[in-house]
Amino acid sequence: MILHARHYGTGQPIAVAVEDGLITAVSDSDQSPKHYISPALFDPQINGGLGVAFSSPTLKPEQVRIVADECRKHGIGTFAPTLITNSFEALNHGFATLAKAIDADKELARCLPCFHLEGPYLSGEDGPRGAHPKEHARDPDVDEFRRLQDSAGGRIRMVTLAPERKGALAFIEKLTQEGIVIAIGHTAATSAQIRDAVKAGARTSTHIGNGCHATLPRHDNYIWEQLACDELWASIISDGHHLPATLVKCVIRIKGIGRTLITSDASSLAGMPPGKYREWGADLEVLLGGKVVVPGTPFLAGSGHFTDICVSNVVRMAGVSLANAIDMASARPRQLLGLPVTTIEVGQPADLMLFDWDGGELKVREVV
Ligand SMILES: [Zn+2]
Repeated sequence: MILHARHYGTGQPIAVAVEDGLITAVSDSDQSPKHYISPALFDPQINGGLGVAFSSPTLKPEQVRIVADECRKHGIGTFAPTLITNSFEALNHGFATLAKAIDADKELARCLPCFHLEGPYLSGEDGPRGAHPKEHARDPDVDEFRRLQDSAGGRIRMVTLAPERKGALAFIEKLTQEGIVIAIGHTAATSAQIRDAVKAGARTSTHIGNGCHATLPRHDNYIWEQLACDELWASIISDGHHLPATLVKCVIRIKGIGRTLITSDASSLAGMPPGKYREWGADLEVLLGGKVVVPGTPFLAGSGHFTDICVSNVVRMAGVSLANAIDMASARPRQLLGLPVTTIEVGQPADLMLFDWDGGELKVREVV
């Protein structure tokens, strides 16, 4: 197979030869393709989609593929399926089911190289906990994590937690030694607690600016502290609903394009029509325009969009190039999680996205 398209970084027409899943040649194209080629997107936080919740206590292996197939339509070649705060039994079921689905399907295994555990060791306060169920928010527990990691076949590579929880620092140190990336999120921590978490090994902030109190002291608060910690990377949900353009721009200016990750945080209701739903024991609503909310509250419950829209938004909101925005949604999260960074070069896996770009909206044609 030979793909003719413009290189997403240079705009030059190139011909990319693909054989057995690998790039075997890259040369100048003798054609004049209008569309572009880039590495496929990698999203570090996908909770589900099309009504399938990875956190559901009744998740079935065959449902995992439904989400992966939908993600492909949005340029996402690989992603970290994400389980949120729940009982041990439900989390254990979720990770075991994901592992079972992957073990039975080689292509799915390539799409889902690692898992993200967001919770249950989060703040129980309204605001920081977001849509995570209060009754299941608890203190970090290494033994519990080990059992979950066993069920996941060792694939949990990222854990988002609130560092003010009892035992969090020892937990961060232990998991960091094992190569797991600790992210700070859904937290009500003091600035000192944020700094202690960074000293213990925390590497990034999960969807900074969301999973927060509605109002905060203007100077001394956990958002500024995380932005000021140079050791911390940060992910942003740039779906157009979670953060205003100004904040997206400020986060990227502070962290730089080298330490900012774009995530959709796609919820199980991503891709679903507007309406009221009952998901993982909570009432949720998809509003016109795809915003997913906890009805009657200002709190969002993940995104109704996927990562392609988030990339387009970042170009518009932060004034970065399309190539930089794509890298924040592919190379950067791979780098942070210690996964191989895919490029358009000979010998690389053909993990590619073909798309149209009119300067405003990225329209995915195909993921190869
Ligand atoms: Zn979250």
